[in-house]
Amino acid sequence: MPLTECPECGLLQRHPPPPPSGQIECSRCGAVLHRDRPDSLNRTLALTLAGLLLFSIANSFPFIAFNLHGNITHTTLLTGVINLYSSGQWGIAAVVLFTSVLAPGLQLILLLTVLIPLAFDRMPCWLPKLFRLVRTLAPWGMMDVFMLGILVSVVKLADMASIVPGASLFAFAVLIFVLAAAHAALDPDLVWSRVPMPRLHRATVRSGDAHLTCDRCELVIPLIAVRHLGTHRHCPRCDSTLHRRKPDSLQRTWALLLAAILCYIPSNLLPIMTLTSFGRTQSDTILSGVSFLLTHGMWPLALIVFIASVVVPLLKILFLILLLLSVQFRWNQWHPRERTWLYRLIETAGRWSMVDVYVVTILVALVQVGHIAHVEAEAGAVFFCAVVVLTMLAAFAFDPRLIWDRYHGQ
Ligand SMILES: [Zn+2]
Ligand SMILES: [Zn+2]
Repeated sequence: MPLTECPECGLLQRHPPPPPSGQIECSRCGAVLHRDRPDSLNRTLALTLAGLLLFSIANSFPFIAFNLHGNITHTTLLTGVINLYSSGQWGIAAVVLFTSVLAPGLQLILLLTVLIPLAFDRMPCWLPKLFRLVRTLAPWGMMDVFMLGILVSVVKLADMASIVPGASLFAFAVLIFVLAAAHAALDPDLVWSRVPMPRLHRATVRSGDAHLTCDRCELVIPLIAVRHLGTHRHCPRCDSTLHRRKPDSLQRTWALLLAAILCYIPSNLLPIMTLTSFGRTQSDTILSGVSFLLTHGMWPLALIVFIASVVVPLLKILFLILLLLSVQFRWNQWHPRERTWLYRLIETAGRWSMVDVYVVTILVALVQVGHIAHVEAEAGAVFFCAVVVLTMLAAFAFDPRLIWDRYHGQ
């Protein structure tokens, strides 16, 4: 039975393998430690191959066409990025390019590069480093959020023109499910267990023994073996730098959070885009975008956008402040399990705030009909994009194990 350190509360524990289709949860904070994924390697490989095929279709064919009184604009996935870049909004262009095309594409290519040698029982020396990168990229691939952005954009434009879906939109929609299935099928424990380890690092660690745990591959290394790693202390399995806790976690989280708060105010006050149509100019803020959906009877979509764009960033900032204060002022016994749950929520829900950035990108791509109608991204969108990225980075910088470090049981 391998020893696992819970990545969320730091408790060292030993469990039997998970039951068929079941999972093992941390006995202290409830985090999922291991999950049974039958035939993981073959299923992930098949889904990754299907994903790569769909990804190339999604990027090679027309995405959506915009038909305004016979003036048709054809767009590809990259049109919005190119238009944003050429109008000087390179910051948003870079974030959208990375999260909607580069991160998912790179992830698929790297995953295939890792899985093929594993399927043939090979373990090249570069494999652990590449797999580490796959895991780092995972939260930045946001195709599902992009799809929600398409839905909102189509509703916004329904009054003005007709929208014609292209071949690549269908490939994109299927790709979202294939990517989600590939992630669900992938068993990181299985990949890491194939990496050969020097005998010294396989030494058993008992609960209570001094040890270090790798943040990336979750290898538990006894302190005696850590001493042999030299001053640099790189993980013998995945080569990432070893720390007891994320370095300068509180300071880095505070800094990123303060920057996010500074951007949050202008992101809500300034317009995020301007639509010029038949000589009439209309600027939209985040809230006026929500009220537009409401007045058009699209209240479920209005609710989703309101939660994703207004509630989630605000709650994320408030909850992170609460977590930081609770660690800094040592509220050690104050609901640590609930605080860990709050952290988990912040980490997973944050990416959905990107939806309004995608709506701006899609509208900038579609509504470019010369003098008749065009959409431009405004300063509010830049600040809003910064809020989403900064709060995501702040959540990654926070180490939830700090919540439990001075906890003394019930
Ligand atoms: Zn735990
Ligand atoms: Zn490692």
